[in-house]
Amino acid sequence: MSKQILVLPGDGIGPEIVAEAVKVLEAANEKYRLDLQLSFDELGGAAVDKYGVPLADETLERARAADAVLLGAVGGPKWDGIDPAIRPERGLLKIRSQLGLFANLRPAILYPQLAEASTLKPEVVAGLDILIVRELTGGIYFGQPRETRVLENGERQAYDTLPYSESEIRRIAKVGFDMARLRNKKLCSVDKANVLASSQLWRAVVEEVAKDYPDVELSHMYVDNAAMQLVRAPKQFDVIVTDNMFGDILSDEASMLTGSIGMLPSASLDANNKGMYEPCHGSAPDIAGQGIANPLATILSVSMMLRYSFAQAVAADAIEKAVSQVLDQGLRTGDIWSQGTTKVGTREMGDAVVAALRNL
Ligand code: NAD
Repeated sequence: MSKQILVLPGDGIGPEIVAEAVKVLEAANEKYRLDLQLSFDELGGAAVDKYGVPLADETLERARAADAVLLGAVGGPKWDGIDPAIRPERGLLKIRSQLGLFANLRPAILYPQLAEASTLKPEVVAGLDILIVRELTGGIYFGQPRETRVLENGERQAYDTLPYSESEIRRIAKVGFDMARLRNKKLCSVDKANVLASSQLWRAVVEEVAKDYPDVELSHMYVDNAAMQLVRAPKQFDVIVTDNMFGDILSDEASMLTGSIGMLPSASLDANNKGMYEPCHGSAPDIAGQGIANPLATILSVSMMLRYSFAQAVAADAIEKAVSQVLDQGLRTGDIWSQGTTKVGTREMGDAVVAALRNL
């Protein structure tokens, strides 16, 4: 039976980069006979314009029915002033939580061809290949109660809540161990167990899960140290598993080790490996409509989709190889351009990856 993919281009550069990723997906579909069927809808600001809400009920239903979702990015100045309840980002948070996408996988890979793009010394980052597994639907971003209140003395006070249940920790820890097993069998769990009760439970549950993975080497690290180690010696890490807020911050830090956010894909998975795939970057309104955005993060998200949701490792490897070949040819969008390489636009970059894929 054919696999259904719902494509949500979103806002800003979203439609431009998704168009290129769709070309690559269709080329892979044809070459490897993947039997994929694509359909399209709106999310974020584009959905506010079309449906009056950032995620329409019918779009959510289509996403539920699909086997995977490919997303561009959402948001932009056009919708900054609207009712906070229907801001574009609300659509994103809602689709993630409604689909139960609790595991966010963010690889940070430094392509050797782009070693110059990192702000760190080449010897620190050359060969970097780490995977951050972030818990995505729990913790302080969703915890209740949360409010701003006025104290008796008239001062305003705000607070958030950081809850984690055992089952939430257990399922994300398992994803971390499973991913480590597929890679170099090293898992580092990042927490703040010296201070936070939620982190103490986190550490205890991760230790319990570790008993089922004797072949994976587990270590624990406090988040402040992890932030430091990521810039001091990032290659010590293989897979990092951590909570929602720590993962948000550390994955952005890790992405910068690679030089450009335009290169970084991500996957958000549910318990059955159904996933939503999107670049790590936002909708880049500053360059939207100019045809200069880097589509490679979205193209690499398609490769993650084939790998994790459809178990099509051969096709996924081929897309990654095609991207590497295009970089070898010296083609660069503006964000990764350096002296001596050829500057190309979004469409040319997409076409070059399709051509490389067809010729493999
Ligand atoms: P951003 O990631 O959109 O842009 C940051 C910088 O990186 C900009 O200078 C941009 O031009 C550049 N950039 C980003 N992607 C690029 C690409 N593919 N090629 C070349 N350059 C690229 O972050 P921001 O400016 O903080 O946010 C802009 C909008 O995106 C906001 O509305 C924000 O809410 C939204 N946003 C959405 C997501 C998402 O949809 N997942 C994530 C982050 C931000």
